[in-house]
Amino acid sequence: MKILCILYDDPKGGMPSNYPLNELPALEKYPDGMSLPTPKGRDFTPGELLGCVSGELGLRKYLEDSGHTLIVTSDKDGEGCVADMELVDADIVISQPFFPYYVTREKMESAPNLKMAITAGIGSDHVDLQAAMDHGVDVVEVTYCNSRSVAEHIVMQILVLVRDFTTQHNIVNDGGWHIADAVSRSYDVEGMHIGTIAAGRIGLDMLRKMKPFDVHLHYMDRHRLPESIEQELGLTFHETVESLVSVCDVINISCPLHPETEHMFNDELISKCKKGAYIINTARGKICDKDAIARACESGQLSGYAGDVWFPQPPPNDHVWRTMPNHGMTPHTSGTSLTAQARYADGVREILECFFAGDEIRNEYLIVQNGDLAGMGAHSYSKGTATGGSEEAAKFKK
Ligand code: NDP
Repeated sequence: MKILCILYDDPKGGMPSNYPLNELPALEKYPDGMSLPTPKGRDFTPGELLGCVSGELGLRKYLEDSGHTLIVTSDKDGEGCVADMELVDADIVISQPFFPYYVTREKMESAPNLKMAITAGIGSDHVDLQAAMDHGVDVVEVTYCNSRSVAEHIVMQILVLVRDFTTQHNIVNDGGWHIADAVSRSYDVEGMHIGTIAAGRIGLDMLRKMKPFDVHLHYMDRHRLPESIEQELGLTFHETVESLVSVCDVINISCPLHPETEHMFNDELISKCKKGAYIINTARGKICDKDAIARACESGQLSGYAGDVWFPQPPPNDHVWRTMPNHGMTPHTSGTSLTAQARYADGVREILECFFAGDEIRNEYLIVQNGDLAGMGAHSYSKGTATGGSEEAAKFKK
């Protein structure tokens, strides 16, 4: 079979010859008891770059030894790109949310052999899920592989925004020492009201991680958490997004992108936020209207906005979030730490091994199967597509 794998570019200076740490901490299992990925083999060293082109997710030896063809490229956007050319006779496409290959309906229809789209990570909105259902293409992702990596990033970005780290760091880098400038937007998180839209794997882990800061915790989700967890964390449940945003100083977004959540944070919802709230979004850029966010950061309706997700990716060089005031944006990195890469590379191999052997893929990994939402997809997504506008990614110039 032909497997097409779209990965981000290697480091500008080439692959590292060494890494800061010699080994990764050993994890037994995920917090809810789910096991980490269990491939039968592994041809990489955990802790090394795997998500870039030369890293190849550690798959080449395994795939070629099994008689398959592996094509790896980062050329994924614009007419005539390598990914589009290679897709037409590919059986499986693998892509990562950090540098997504947008498998639109048109692209899917150009690839009659396509059987499966694997997300090396979590969040499969870069695939037109409705087209996948219509064309019998299965969509799977490596559920849980980087959820806790993202929760760590969220905690970091809450602190970066509320304490105004970036201003202070820049003063030091510029050779300065002006304390008043450094602290004129800096607050303690303690005592604040922190809320999350969605308390799934990431949202709940973020709540747990924030609990020791002595804050008030809130959440809104389509399904309510068990009472024991609400009590343990002292959570306030909100039936609606509007209710949550009206009382929270920090609003975290951790739901998937699907037609129900696309542009949820528009001018109207932002106007209902508590004045001066901070928003953290590591879920998907398109859950927010980018211009509405920028306007609110300009006006002071929002005190700051941080996250690592944009739309499209890479975002055009003049994307307004690069320059709006009081932002704490990073590129899409939270789920692709070196630690997380080892887990999702293992997860992709587990999925491929199951697929080639005709074994069932874990139910938790399924988003679309046999023409319908399945597994996690049936629980967390709604039908339809969210890939509209992704062709803008071609505007990014390296
Ligand atoms: P989970 O599936 O564990 O959690 C998703 C949660 O979102 C579920 O509790 C689901 O509710 C809830 N949800 C879905 N739709 C809505 C809605 N309309 N309103 C409120 N809640 C909703 O996934 P994770 O927590 O692991 O990941 C969440 C998302 O984060 C991913 O889909 C992805 O987009 C993003 N992500 C980003 C990464 C990054 O690197 N920045 C890495 C990993 C993920 P229920 O199931 O109760 O219906």
